Amino acid sequence: MQFAEIPGLEETKQVLVNGVKKNHVAHAQLFHGLEGTAALTMALAYATYLNCQHPGDSDSCGMCSSCMQMAKMAHPDVTYIYPTAGGKKVLSETFISQWREFVAQKPYGNISDWLETIEVKQGNIPVEEARQLIQNLSLKSYTGGYKIVIIWLVENMNAATANALLKVLEEPPPQTIFLLICSRSDRLLTTILSRTQRLAIPKFKEKEIETYLIKKGIAQEKANEIAAISGGSLWKALDLSVEGNEDMAGWFAQWMRYCYAFDVANLISLADEFDSFAKEYQKNMLEYGNQQFRQIFLYATGNKDLVKLPVKQMPFIQNFSKVFKLNNLQIMVDLLGEAHLHIERNVRAKIVFLDISINMARYIK
Ligand SMILES: [Zn+2]
Repeated sequence: MQFAEIPGLEETKQVLVNGVKKNHVAHAQLFHGLEGTAALTMALAYATYLNCQHPGDSDSCGMCSSCMQMAKMAHPDVTYIYPTAGGKKVLSETFISQWREFVAQKPYGNISDWLETIEVKQGNIPVEEARQLIQNLSLKSYTGGYKIVIIWLVENMNAATANALLKVLEEPPPQTIFLLICSRSDRLLTTILSRTQRLAIPKFKEKEIETYLIKKGIAQEKANEIAAISGGSLWKALDLSVEGNEDMAGWFAQWMRYCYAFDVANLISLADEFDSFAKEYQKNMLEYGNQQFRQIFLYATGNKDLVKLPVKQMPFIQNFSKVFKLNNLQIMVDLLGEAHLHIERNVRAKIVFLDISINMARYIK
C-alpha cells in the first residue's frame, strides 16, 4: 500500500511523511478512525514509507525490495496481529494467507467482513499473541530497517493481552515501531491510549469517494449518488457499489408507497424480503432512508438547490415532500434510528421492519 492509493487526506499523509523526514517517529502510534476510514490503509502506507529504501518527498518508491515485500504483505520485519478465534494455539499467523487476501480485496473492510472471511462469529486478540510477539521482537531485524508491528482493531484486546503488551509498548526494543489501529477508541483501555501517540483519521469527503469509485469503474452518476449517502465511509461506499446493492432508491420508494397506502399485505412481504438481507445491508437500508428524509426535508423547506440526488429520483422527493408535515419527518428519522439500534442488537429484522412500517404508516399522512 502506498499513500497514492488512498484517496485524499493529503494533510494526514504529510504529517506522517514529515515525521519520518525529521526523524520524529514515535515508537507507538495509534491510528484511530471510524469504520470505512483509511485507518488501516494509512498505517500500511506509512509502514511502507518507513522501510522504503528510496523514499520520495511524499510517498514510498514502490519499486525497492522492501516496498515489493510490503505490497505482498510479506515483509520479514513486519508482523500483523488481528482478531482471531479458535483457542490458545490459534494466533494471527494461522490466518496470514486469509489476511493478505482480505487486505488485497477489502482494504476498507470491517470486523464483520474479516470474521466472515475466517468463518468465526466472534474474534479477539488473546494473551498468547502478546507473549509470542514479545518473544519474536527479541530477535534482530532481518533487513536492517524498522521492525514494525501492526495491530488491527486493537480494541479487541482483552485486559490480559493489553497488560502483557504494556511494557513493550512503553519501552520497545530498538528500531521497533508499533502501529495500532482502532475504530472504537472508546473501547480501548486507557493504559494503552496513554502509551501511544494518537493520529485521528478523518472521514473521507464526498468528492474523494466519488473519484475513487469512478477510478474503480463505476459510472459517474452512480458514484455521485453513492458518495452522497455513504457518510464518508469507503467501506459503505464500496458495499453500496456492489452489483445488486444498488437498487436502494427503488426499494425505499416502494416501501414508502406501501406505508402511505397502509398496504399491510405488501408490507408483510416486504418485511420478509428485508429479513432475508444481510444485517449490514439492513442497516444500510435504514441509513439510506435517513438520508432520503433529509433530502425531503431540504426540499420541503425551500432548499432545493441543496438536494443532492440523481434526476430520476426527484419525482419521489417532490411527491413525498408534499405529503409530510415537518414535525412528522423528525418522527420518521427517530423511528429509523431506533430500528437501526434494534438491528444492531440482533432483534429479529422482520419484527423490527413491521413495527417501523406500521408506525410510519401512522405518521406519514
Ligand atoms: Zn521503496
